[in-house]
Amino acid sequence: LVPGKSELVMVYHRLPYEELIENGELIRRRPTSPNGILPTLLSFFGDGRAGSWIAWSIHDPRHGTFQIHTEVDTDLYPRLLAARVPLSKKDVDIFYKKFSKEAFWPTLHTFWERAVFRDDHWQVFLKVNKQFAERAAAEAAENAVVWIHDYNLWMVPAFLREIRPDLVIAFFHHTYFPSADVFNVLPWRREIIGSLLQCDYIGFHIPRQAENFVDVARGVMPLEVTQKMNCAPRFLTYGCAMGLDEMTTEIQVNERRIGLGAHPVGLDLDRVRAALAKKSVQQRMNELREELSGTRMVLSVGRLDYTKGVIEQLTAYETLLEQHPDLHGKVTLIMVCVPADKEMTIYRKLQVQIEQAVGRINGRFAQVGWSPLQFFFRSLPFEELVAYYSMADVMWITPLRDGLNLVAKEYIATQGMTEGSGVLVLSEFAGAAAELRGPILANPHDPKELVQTCYLALTLKRDEARSRMREAFDVVCYNDIKLWGAEFMAAVEACRSDDAEAQ
Ligand code: UDP
Repeated sequence: LVPGKSELVMVYHRLPYEELIENGELIRRRPTSPNGILPTLLSFFGDGRAGSWIAWSIHDPRHGTFQIHTEVDTDLYPRLLAARVPLSKKDVDIFYKKFSKEAFWPTLHTFWERAVFRDDHWQVFLKVNKQFAERAAAEAAENAVVWIHDYNLWMVPAFLREIRPDLVIAFFHHTYFPSADVFNVLPWRREIIGSLLQCDYIGFHIPRQAENFVDVARGVMPLEVTQKMNCAPRFLTYGCAMGLDEMTTEIQVNERRIGLGAHPVGLDLDRVRAALAKKSVQQRMNELREELSGTRMVLSVGRLDYTKGVIEQLTAYETLLEQHPDLHGKVTLIMVCVPADKEMTIYRKLQVQIEQAVGRINGRFAQVGWSPLQFFFRSLPFEELVAYYSMADVMWITPLRDGLNLVAKEYIATQGMTEGSGVLVLSEFAGAAAELRGPILANPHDPKELVQTCYLALTLKRDEARSRMREAFDVVCYNDIKLWGAEFMAAVEACRSDDAEAQ
């Protein structure tokens, strides 16, 4: 394993394993909630390709000298090194927990009026991004591919290109990318776009997000849009606000050409299949069946975040119960809300509002033997979630804005594999709405529509529910996580061959 000879450098904020400090000692273990993307990104190193995985690691000088390189798994990825960027706890808090969540996250999700812009935090962000870029430059072999992930690392391409003009720089944007009207409120928009324009290829989930990027870039630099073409048929849009039938696939800034693509992240279907086959999951399903005692389950799953539209859902559910007394005693809303890190203070007020609404709804409508709403303020293990997905008659996913939404796809996968006839109600403002076919789409900003679509889902004829589910399942099966990774990497490699031809 030789640093400086990596043919592929993955730049991701997290390590592919977990590090924690116990009794003053740094220990490592496999991630407790394996995120579907990590195994796919790691799989690029499974063929023995020499590579590096760059991520931050908290460095406390009291724990001795910092070791940059560690092995990841020499059996599975014989030539992959983790290359850690040492950061102080304070830097991580500012760069990751504060600045990214307080300045970028709200702006990216079109809640710009909630954003807090602090130049001292931007300076820390720059410093950290520079460290990532320097590490990537030190790891990469000549003409290697460096694949950078997400907005936390927006400034890495600029620093990296300056040190290593030879590299192929690819970037995947995992969150929503807003229109120019919103993005341009960022005080550092020019620096960020200038940095992204140093990439050779940029991937987004859906065409709309790529198109928004092009509009923003156009405002910052004179841009030549060199190619427009029909995008993949999976982005037919049902007139929904999020998708487009065609998109820009390449832009040119001066001499530099930048490829653009839409790659909605897919699922690891084997993970869902394996969960469904587990005895404990089957058992949980049976327990749930009993607990629901004949009521129909509406399920909502998401993180505690204003973008997820939890308050809007609770208000709609209250109206639904007001308008349809026939549903009393016959429906149960199960809401799983994953709490934010304690240090993320911006979520405290929202939490209080949610707790009040939950108390109010149960207080108003509960009867002996029936609670209209069960609220879990914790994260459930994936397998338990799959048990809920399989039992849910209606999956209610109505974020106000979401880059994609994997939960929606996980529900479809579970129902599809068990030949269920559940109904997905999905926000038009989730990226998945532009990709999936079959869900009932809803505008979460319209309280009346939220109520109507939930009622429609609860009363939909079984045949129609089945056929909608099959359509959506086809998409989820086709565009799985392996295809996502393979298509992205193929597009990056194509940029390299285009460049070679041009010379
Ligand atoms: N998830 C989980 N336990 C929970 C709730 C969610 O493991 O209690 C997982 C879920 O399976 C999904 C991810 O968290 O893979 C959430 O991804 P999504 O794209 O829906 O939303 P994000 O949190 O990335 O905005």
